[in-house]
Amino acid sequence: MNHLLSIEELDRAAIERIVDRAERFAEVADREIKKVPTLRGRMVLNLFYESSTRTRSSFELAAKRLSADVVNFSAGGSSVEKGESLKDTVLTLSAHKPDVIVIRTPWVGAAELVSRWCSAAIVNAGDGKHEHPTQALLDVYTLRRRIGSLDGLSVWIVGDVTHSRVARSNIIALRKMGAKVTVAGPPTLIPRQIEALGCEVRYTLDDLHTADVVYALRMQNERMTEAWVPSLREYAAWYQVNGRRLRPRQLLMHPGPVNRGVELSGEVVDSPQSLISAQVEAGVVVRMAVLYELLSGARGETPSPLHPTRSPQPA
Ligand code: ASP
Repeated sequence: MNHLLSIEELDRAAIERIVDRAERFAEVADREIKKVPTLRGRMVLNLFYESSTRTRSSFELAAKRLSADVVNFSAGGSSVEKGESLKDTVLTLSAHKPDVIVIRTPWVGAAELVSRWCSAAIVNAGDGKHEHPTQALLDVYTLRRRIGSLDGLSVWIVGDVTHSRVARSNIIALRKMGAKVTVAGPPTLIPRQIEALGCEVRYTLDDLHTADVVYALRMQNERMTEAWVPSLREYAAWYQVNGRRLRPRQLLMHPGPVNRGVELSGEVVDSPQSLISAQVEAGVVVRMAVLYELLSGARGETPSPLHPTRSPQPA
């Protein structure tokens, strides 16, 4: 694997390989010293043009746990505010010779473009409403840890599917892992021809009780140029996942950040059925596995994931 631009590039075996490796890395998180020398001397550049809490912090932590050097770049406060283009920014920062660039932008296809401009391995950490492959990987990891095989599992993805890169990446990943996926929401928030990804579509939550897992999505107000629902209150009345709609045997997921009282009621966020904290925790080990895969796995080396990939670095 040279880059991770889209979950579409990974087949089931590749997803399982990354998730298996993440499980091995989970052991590092339980140690007193949560660090291994695997990527010592390597550099990870986090390039974020959109806000992020979970993704950026977990990529940073993942790189640090593998002993890589990390440079964090946010568009706010940089020369982007003086008009520097994405290409010039990437070329400028490439002078520092990063081995991996983790990039998030509001633009569909930006990660793929960046992969053509420099020699670093590129990880798409979200390109507009297109894809967010590491979110899908960490969701597969979270579910596999909790319930084992995903074959035949029924997952309902509820809410603003139109603007959600998480929905797109998750439909693809969950289908590859053998789950049955249904997307549900108001017609304005379900893209036409989404069935082509292999999911079913529902416009009401009447059959939500048939799901094993309910995956709620945030209303992506920042990507909406007009009113896509009459009001958030009305949206919540029809589509909010709450204690009345969520059955005790069902598991709840959400990529965060949650709009409490809109797509989820506070009671279900804090319930034992919620896997939301487990998803955040999974983010670090799964991103460790992705960095490892890009910097070691792809090069035909087969070192232990807990030891350096290179001969010892000069002091
Ligand atoms: N954090 C996820 C993303 O960046 C989901 C969201 O923002 O709603 O796509």
